[in-house]
Amino acid sequence: TVRTRFAPSPTGLLHIGNARAALFNYLYAKHHNGQFLLRIEDTDRERSTQQAVDVILDGLAWMGLTPDEEPVYQSTRIQRHQEVALHLLETGKAYKCYCTPEELAEMRAKAQAEGKPPRYNGYWRDRDPAEAPKNAPYTVRIKAPREGKTVIHDLVQGEVTVANIELDDMIILRADGTPTYQHAVVCDDHDMQITHVIRGDDHLTNTFRQLMIYRAMDWDIPQFAHLPLIHGPDGAKLSKRHGASSVVEFRDEGYLPEALCNYLLRLGWGHGDDEILNREQQIALFDLDGVGRSPSRMDYAKLTHINGYWLRQADNLRLTAEVISRLSSAKNINIDPLYEKRILFLMPGLKERAKNLTELAESAAFLCATIPLTFTDKAKKLLNEDTYAMLGKLASQLSALTPFTKETINHCLHQFAETEGLKLGKVAQPLRAAVTGSTMSPGIDDTLLALGKDEVLARLGAITN
Ligand code: GLU
Repeated sequence: TVRTRFAPSPTGLLHIGNARAALFNYLYAKHHNGQFLLRIEDTDRERSTQQAVDVILDGLAWMGLTPDEEPVYQSTRIQRHQEVALHLLETGKAYKCYCTPEELAEMRAKAQAEGKPPRYNGYWRDRDPAEAPKNAPYTVRIKAPREGKTVIHDLVQGEVTVANIELDDMIILRADGTPTYQHAVVCDDHDMQITHVIRGDDHLTNTFRQLMIYRAMDWDIPQFAHLPLIHGPDGAKLSKRHGASSVVEFRDEGYLPEALCNYLLRLGWGHGDDEILNREQQIALFDLDGVGRSPSRMDYAKLTHINGYWLRQADNLRLTAEVISRLSSAKNINIDPLYEKRILFLMPGLKERAKNLTELAESAAFLCATIPLTFTDKAKKLLNEDTYAMLGKLASQLSALTPFTKETINHCLHQFAETEGLKLGKVAQPLRAAVTGSTMSPGIDDTLLALGKDEVLARLGAITN
């Protein structure tokens, strides 16, 4: 069965390039009825705080990418990495290197002077271990092949070849006994029975090095798929200056996880003209042959468009909860259950008009406002002596409405406009400004209903009296 893994290093953020790798691993596994695993590469103990790990766990949970097994923490597996290195020593596939840092520096300087890449010259490779200095620290190096070439049949990049003389005898165990990154990754992928390694193409050169370990251990080699990176709209590496680039930022800016996933999938993976795909469709359709080889460019406008679609599809209760949490944290508004009812009532209209949760929350804020409202400049322009008089009259008619329903409200507004010789908009716009503080809201009837008669009259009373 297919087993994939997402193997992030806890750096404190989940970059969307990594998030997309996680998504592709997840979808590939699910498409093939396999398993999606998570390995936390936390060997850098200083950076790998619990907080940094939580950023990854929370990000994946938010995106709905739940691993099928408990996460594997790389730092807990050091003994196993050492055991494998020892085995390679015993079988003569690796050797102890006693070169001092000074000797290595000299080697690098020499190579540089000759215009060659800085490679270890294999000094201890075939030396008699009897020559080894007593009690001196050593590293363990793997014997790189010296002839021929190594070929990867990458599921995205196609056939990629490297001449073996390009590879040197890399260190698998440091002098302090800790495994190197390349070594740990291979041991873990093997033990986790990973069949497909899907990761960013910045890891392609590592793959050639990692293959040496698979071969030396005579382990089955997984299939590889190296994904092109995500660039900014200008083609440069995606960074802060382009906009949001990590999962938390997208979440805070008000994107829905289904929109981000939908967008990240469509970025660099095509399936005809289908733009909108839900998770079920994604799993059914995803395969690696649809992944392009060139870097993708982040298109924030397209993401926003997709977000708008998913926002309109989203459940009203869920959106109400999102709005409330945003209003209570960002605007420091204490959310009364009454406000919650108002927001839920108006949600169908509100979500039609918003591009993201931030806008949605802003558009709902008037429902939780207290008198006196604050007015936008445009709203202020609509409120003057003339309209105050008009709104005063209207208020007394609205106050007489029983029941207070969509029908009675509309009937009242039309009648009122007619009697006053005004177009409906000339009544509705100042009314909207007076009760919402702005010039934009869902239909005036729904807006009044959401507030309720008492609140509408109180808001009108506050400015007309
Ligand atoms: N830990 C590596 C990273 O975060 C990924 C290693 C891998 O996928 O093999 O870039």
